[in-house]
Amino acid sequence: SRRSAEPVHIEALSKAYGDFRALDDVSLAVEAGEFVAILGPSGSGKSTLLMAVAGFIRPDAGRILFAGRDIVREPANRRGFGVVFQSYALFPHMDVTANVTFPLKVRGVAAEEARARAAQALETVRLGGFGARRIGELSGGQRQRVALARAIVFEPKVLLMDEPLSALDKTLREEMQIEIRELHDKLRITTLYVTHDQREALTIADRIAVMDKGRIVQLDAPEAIYRRPASAFVARFIGEAA
Ligand code: ADP
Ligand code: MG
Repeated sequence: SRRSAEPVHIEALSKAYGDFRALDDVSLAVEAGEFVAILGPSGSGKSTLLMAVAGFIRPDAGRILFAGRDIVREPANRRGFGVVFQSYALFPHMDVTANVTFPLKVRGVAAEEARARAAQALETVRLGGFGARRIGELSGGQRQRVALARAIVFEPKVLLMDEPLSALDKTLREEMQIEIRELHDKLRITTLYVTHDQREALTIADRIAVMDKGRIVQLDAPEAIYRRPASAFVARFIGEAA
């Protein structure tokens, strides 16, 4: 691995919208270099949890321990985590290189160095030679790989992905699941990966945190979740993958 991985300890996070508890006392210790999937039905609080870790949502209570301190009040840009959204959030009018170098330019990296690092990140996601292409010319899977390259180009210690494959068709999704997992095995970035797809979580993760109604109801390795669901809810939800 090129870098030393860092753990992320989420402690007792809560977030309410009015009377509604989107996150209800959520704790989750993600180990250094681990890949944890956050799995749950729509509305269970997955994105709220991920965006709280990213720094885009300020929780009402709780701590996020990272690199020896509580970062819960730190703005997103100072956390320096790589984030991949469902909607890619690429700049469509810019070429691939300009998209991937963007986070480096924001950090004041010189243009030449930024281009070199972008080229390397694009190689990593198997898009070497695509730098001059426009985003609009790319397939969904290629766009998602550009988003991934942009998220890893500044060598983040933590990678956060929110349903990054849900816009892709089944075949492409299954290919990309394998690619993302292989990338993780290579880079070993501490990763939180949101999905509502049971199969995807079982395929991709070291451990799965199952969410229901703003709480983590089970945290286990995929086999354990599958064989020993902690509740009727988990059994039913995981059973839909079988
Ligand atoms: P998931 O990603 O699991 O589908 P979310 O974390 O996006 O769930 O949302 C959890 C719940 O919080 C949902 O019921 C959603 O409607 C509610 N929610 C999310 N964001 C807001 C907001 N800004 N204002 C009010 N309710 C919200
Ligand atoms: Mg969501």
